[in-house]
Amino acid sequence: MNEKTQQQIRTIILEVRGIYESYRSKNTWTTHQDIIGLGILISCQALLIGVGYAWLIGFCPTWLTIVSIALITSILHELEHDLIHDLYFKRIPFLYHWMMLGVYIFRPISLNPWIRKHWHHFHHQHSGMAFDIEERGITNGDRLSLLRLLVLPDLLLSGIIRIPRLRKEIIIEYNKGNLSKSDMRLIIRTVLLGLLPFGVPLTILWYAFVVIHLFHGVGYPLAQFDGLLQWIEPLMILLVIPNLIRQFALHFVSSNMHYMGDVEAGNVIQQVQVFTPWWSAPLQWFCFFFGATHAIHHFVVNEPFYLRQLTRKAAQEVLLENGIRLNDVKSLRFSNRYHHTNNY
Ligand SMILES: [Zn+2]
Ligand SMILES: [Zn+2]
Repeated sequence: MNEKTQQQIRTIILEVRGIYESYRSKNTWTTHQDIIGLGILISCQALLIGVGYAWLIGFCPTWLTIVSIALITSILHELEHDLIHDLYFKRIPFLYHWMMLGVYIFRPISLNPWIRKHWHHFHHQHSGMAFDIEERGITNGDRLSLLRLLVLPDLLLSGIIRIPRLRKEIIIEYNKGNLSKSDMRLIIRTVLLGLLPFGVPLTILWYAFVVIHLFHGVGYPLAQFDGLLQWIEPLMILLVIPNLIRQFALHFVSSNMHYMGDVEAGNVIQQVQVFTPWWSAPLQWFCFFFGATHAIHHFVVNEPFYLRQLTRKAAQEVLLENGIRLNDVKSLRFSNRYHHTNNY
């Protein structure tokens, strides 16, 4: 890394820290971080249960139910990310793990958060490298194609279709010494258990739900499954479909705002961009404006998501003045390469 880049990184870290410090000194409510986190979790859960109940009694239309749940669970994803960085109840394990379960249970088709915790810290250490498992897992670095878009929201389908290629890549990285034996053991554990206990069964039910709907009216043998719909449907409307929409948005934005494959090790300037093209607006809503704020997080990690949102304008300016790209849509055509080439 050259001196200029190192200076840019130092400047961003110092100035963004300064923005947080000044905001915190003017807003003393920010000191109650644990309670705020818990309050957000309980409020989101109450809203989700309320919307679900309103749908079950026929008060809330299905489309509004799905959209509302997708929006609320996008806040839970941010909360999970904060928990992964130990920002709430670090010294009270019971409450910490209760919150982890609380953010997982309403986003049950996502990766188990206790397993994700390891790969997310690994992502911060090795962002943009070919062995950044978390980002490769959500298609970052793949060629833009219909297939990439199709598997984006569905981790199970994505795993099944992409595993032969990812396996080859992982073995290459292991032979290069970039992945350790314990990393390899955890990769196997992630494949076997990462979507358990909820993800695999619910995703399989989703496929069944789609098939039953597609062939509805065909008659025997599918007609006998109509009864199943009565209890599958609420699970789909209240849990699976909103989370597929949310995960599509999050995985699209995340896998395109992080660069992959030709990033200089440790060069945070090349790892991320501020990604808010106008056409991505609906996606940003369903991932709580991840494209606008996640780049800031790569420089100053230990701040909760709501402070990142509240100070994002000032922090973005600092990033953009110091070499972070804005809306580099071109990288989408080059498999998320920073240098816009298709070579590793
Ligand atoms: Zn993080
Ligand atoms: Zn990241």
